[in-house]
Amino acid sequence: MVEVSILPQVRDFMNRLNGQFINGKTVVSQQDEVITITNPATDEVIAHVATATSGDIDYAVDSAHRAFHGGWADVSPAQRGLLLNRLADLMIAHREELAQIETLTSGKLITLSRAFEVDYAVSFVRYYAGWTTRIEGKTVALSLPSASGEKYTGLTLREPLGVVAGIVPWNFSIMIAVWKFGSALACGCTAVIKPSEVTPLTMLRVAELAIEAGIPPGVLNVINGPGQQVGHALTTHPKIAKVTFTGGMETGAIIGTAALQSGFKRVTLELGGKNAAGFLPDVSPEKTVEGIIEAGFLNSGQVCASAERYYVHRSLINDVAEQLGKRLATLTPGDPMDDESCFGPLANRSHFNKVIGYFTRARDQNLTFIHGGGAFDLPGCYIQPTAVLAQSENDELMRQEVFGPVASLLAYDSVDELVTLMNDSPYGLAASLWTNNLSQALRLIPRVEAGTVWVNMHNYIDPAMPFGGTKGSGIGREFGSAFIDHFTEIKSVIMRY
Ligand code: NAD
Repeated sequence: MVEVSILPQVRDFMNRLNGQFINGKTVVSQQDEVITITNPATDEVIAHVATATSGDIDYAVDSAHRAFHGGWADVSPAQRGLLLNRLADLMIAHREELAQIETLTSGKLITLSRAFEVDYAVSFVRYYAGWTTRIEGKTVALSLPSASGEKYTGLTLREPLGVVAGIVPWNFSIMIAVWKFGSALACGCTAVIKPSEVTPLTMLRVAELAIEAGIPPGVLNVINGPGQQVGHALTTHPKIAKVTFTGGMETGAIIGTAALQSGFKRVTLELGGKNAAGFLPDVSPEKTVEGIIEAGFLNSGQVCASAERYYVHRSLINDVAEQLGKRLATLTPGDPMDDESCFGPLANRSHFNKVIGYFTRARDQNLTFIHGGGAFDLPGCYIQPTAVLAQSENDELMRQEVFGPVASLLAYDSVDELVTLMNDSPYGLAASLWTNNLSQALRLIPRVEAGTVWVNMHNYIDPAMPFGGTKGSGIGREFGSAFIDHFTEIKSVIMRY
């Protein structure tokens, strides 16, 4: 056991009344409507955050609007990249502080907070910083004939959209927010981020660091509060040009509709998944089990790209189930603030209750639990790592996104059946194929309906690879060069001479 001691600056930050970060300063307009933050590992109240008033929301959007028109869009691309890199440097300098705030708030293992919320998040900031000097238009040869000898030159300009609203979930509160504001700021847009109401703290600290890095006030703002009030007011605010959202499918439909109905705002939606992993018969039960652990149990399964549906050849499924049960028994619960813990709690009580509800209904439907299926007898939101043998593709656990540490296994007989089962979902975020048969893998990849297909791996998200969903998993792509299309408008210029 290597318990991490809480840094004094983390204690100070948690003890003060936080609220919003607008125009370069902390804003706490009301003391009566506060979000109470509970540590999901201990159930102890650890902080309070004031909810944004409608005046705060206007102030944040107005500040971002002024910062956009007053300069950020005109800051040279090289300077924008430099400032984003300075922010990345400061995030690294404050790595432990950010990781501790995140772990205390979300229950994420401290090792994961350092790796994902700081190190990976910083890789994304640097990646976007690298794009600022590479955003360019085209010259175009025009097609129409010239009637009397006149000539035409056509060119396209890429122009930043304006103020971007970034609405983010609780599972990776810095990294996913970086996907939003990194894209926006690199393209010359300004941003107002609304974190999840259960993880409102860490982005406030990142926004403070942005000011220290020299990013002008108003360019990056953070407002907090419940989605249906604060999130909705931000989505529909007339000065917001684009909404970029990561979260659940139902919320995505509400936000997408509201954004279009309030002035045809541009929208990117990164939604949930019920991701499938298909194991071909050449993969041994041992490798299958390690694949399932990699695909389904990172961050206690609270990863949008995690697999929850596992298809195993009928000849191997009993062996796999037996070995998986033994392997899951090794995932013992630990304090997220312990450097050596390997399995932490869920991020909040309401999510814990939702996951327990899935297990109760699965029991009522007589599904066979290979392992787990309940809570650990501990304070906090600890759920047992769980695996079930599904009865059919129609079981609730094969259809609904649980977003927890649960693997549902179903047997298949032929490769064609495997493809049909993998695609039998309203979602299409990510999938993985596991085989050493290269030609089989290459033939299957185009048949799998998902925005990302991994082979012999799962959950690997890289800044250089476009990421996003097909079907109900959303609209648009983040990262790669794809994000530029979503944060700029193309202006066509035609000149006659
Ligand atoms: P959620 O949809 O409940 O909430 C996400 C955010 O939307 C929160 O900030 C919330 O306050 C806000 N919100 C809620 N209702 C709103 C409304 N009417 N208007 C505006 N904002 C509103 O999601 P969650 O429970 O925080 O996160 C879990 C979900 O996120 C899962 O479905 C998961 O798959 C998904 N997710 C997807 C990705 C991806 O990249 N595709 C990544 C991480 C998480």
